[in-house]
Amino acid sequence: MILNVLSRNTDIVYPITIERDSLKRVNEIFDLKNKKVLIITDDGVPTIYLDTLKDQIKNAYSYVIKRGEASKNFDNYKEILEFMVENKFTRTDCVIALGGGVVGDLSGFVAASYMRGITFYNIPTTLLSQVDSSIGGKCAIDFLGVKNNIGSFKNPSGVLIDSNTLKTLDKREFNAGMAEVIKMSMTNNKNLFDYLNTTKVENIDLDHVIREALMIKKMVVEVDPFEKDLRRVLNFGHTIGHAIEALSEGKLLHGECVGVGMTYMVDKTIKNVLISLLSKYNLPTNIDINEDRIIELIKVDKKASSNTITIVYVSKIGEFEFRKINIDEIKDYLK
Ligand code: NAD
Repeated sequence: MILNVLSRNTDIVYPITIERDSLKRVNEIFDLKNKKVLIITDDGVPTIYLDTLKDQIKNAYSYVIKRGEASKNFDNYKEILEFMVENKFTRTDCVIALGGGVVGDLSGFVAASYMRGITFYNIPTTLLSQVDSSIGGKCAIDFLGVKNNIGSFKNPSGVLIDSNTLKTLDKREFNAGMAEVIKMSMTNNKNLFDYLNTTKVENIDLDHVIREALMIKKMVVEVDPFEKDLRRVLNFGHTIGHAIEALSEGKLLHGECVGVGMTYMVDKTIKNVLISLLSKYNLPTNIDINEDRIIELIKVDKKASSNTITIVYVSKIGEFEFRKINIDEIKDYLK
């Protein structure tokens, strides 16, 4: 299946191919002819995927970074650019990201800035990156301890999603990606929520789930490419989730924190059904939180302008509202 996404800033449409085994057809799906191709990946992504790509691409180079968020750093960014200069990459060459959101964000920023921008393709291999980070064009590195504060908007020229790659993904990482799917279903797609709720974990049609989640992300980024208004809906669960993530000091995954964060931002009539779905995917729903620390952290969060904040609230599954509130009012939601 091919989903076309309109990139508003360039008026270019880029295709997302969602197809099992499509990794084996990369040179049919992406335009790689007569190009040097730099594949950026990390050491947690099974090497078999990199080999599958290299076997098909005549002029392939690879650059492997260490796995983990800490790799989205300035040194890696600079070293990859140096590697490209040393290997005489030109404006007509391209970059492929092969990995999760870390590899995708770093590679996108490399492609956005090398010679003022060269072609970028994305092959996301975690559930989170397949349903979320691989489209929409946001790319960044973390700088001076602040997440995603140096970056750009760089839309890929194509995205290839082969859900077979998820077979090797750690279960906990998979479930953290499911938290983002649940998030999108909560705000925009009740049918998807009901499907997840009523289908046994082992019977889930993953390609269907990925497609439905991507349809939501596509709609949102097409309407609001630069996160001025509607795109904030993707932050459902993130206001409190980010604070919980900071307090967990690396013990909890991002998706796990978003899951907990969502439980505070829903009407009490739907709270139990949300908790039950999160639990089905072994996502934490009940952790001790320090209200004062949460408020403090939200105040320093970049999304907090002055003393007010816009939160995403769900009263009814599949629908959402933005609420502009005073940050201290978050306490009422934490009760
Ligand atoms: P990740 O990229 O760190 O990947 C998680 C782990 O899975 C890594 O250890 C990786 O080596 C491993 N892995 C990847 N694919 C695998 C596979 N198929 N089999 C086995 N192991 C595999 O984490 P993530 O959750 O994908 O991405 C998180 C990042 O995404 C964060 O930096 C976040 O800021 C970013 N993000 C960006 C956007 C955006 O719009 N650009 C949106 C959401 C999140």
